[in-house]
Amino acid sequence: MIEISHVNKWYSPTFQVLTDCTTSVTKGEVVVVCGPSGSGKSTLIKCVNALEPFQEGEISVDGTKVNDPKTDLPKLRSRVGMVFQHFELFPHLKIIENLCLAQQKVLGRPYDKAVAKGKQLLERVGLKEQADKFPAQLSGGQQQRVAIARALAMDPIVMLFDEPTSALDPEMVSEVLDVMVDLAREGMTMMVVTHEMGFARKVANRVIFMDRGEIVEDAEKEDFFGKPRSDRAQKFLSKIL
Ligand code: ADP
Ligand code: MG
Repeated sequence: MIEISHVNKWYSPTFQVLTDCTTSVTKGEVVVVCGPSGSGKSTLIKCVNALEPFQEGEISVDGTKVNDPKTDLPKLRSRVGMVFQHFELFPHLKIIENLCLAQQKVLGRPYDKAVAKGKQLLERVGLKEQADKFPAQLSGGQQQRVAIARALAMDPIVMLFDEPTSALDPEMVSEVLDVMVDLAREGMTMMVVTHEMGFARKVANRVIFMDRGEIVEDAEKEDFFGKPRSDRAQKFLSKIL
């Protein structure tokens, strides 16, 4: 579903942020990406839906090359759901309107259908009662669940998450992770940047460990937690576990 092949990216001529990154995510697979701050995790995941360009290598999503000038990027992005650390809801729109906007504007879905889909997804993330509130009236955990529902409203074939729980108060982390666990168990293809190793243990198929722009480790979950091959991954794990 996602093919990342020998990607090199520089933010400036003297600063290479990604070095020869190669990995793939198959349909229905859940891959957790971890690693120290500044190691390039966000950059890599943004390259997957072309929010960041890269100079060398190739990435394709479901067979569509993201770095091909002929690719219809809005169409590609509509199929790749993305959830960020800061929920990025539209503050001036009600929750249900947040869920409907892109369905109508990007997919051309009629209003009634968009609302029905939005309500169904709000129910799924446990927020049926909040449809007519504004984002600021919701807790951080609730807002992040809305952001997940909003991404799902586009019927994505892949979901990308970039530290979706790291801006939340601790007591709200599990309500967001629970939604993500359900999604994983329903078979969604997911690439998740997170340091929540409990989540990784529960639903990840593979774990990727990045350091200084390189994929240092790309292992089956059992192997990664059993004994990471590299010193760098071992050190990282010993700090966060
Ligand atoms: P991570 O998500 O693992 O913390 P990032 O991908 O955000 O890492 O960043 C990797 C490196 O690239 C860091 O050194 C960061 O400061 C730098 N960086 C990130 N975004 C930009 C940018 N837009 N311009 C220049 N440097 C950037
Ligand atoms: Mg990051």
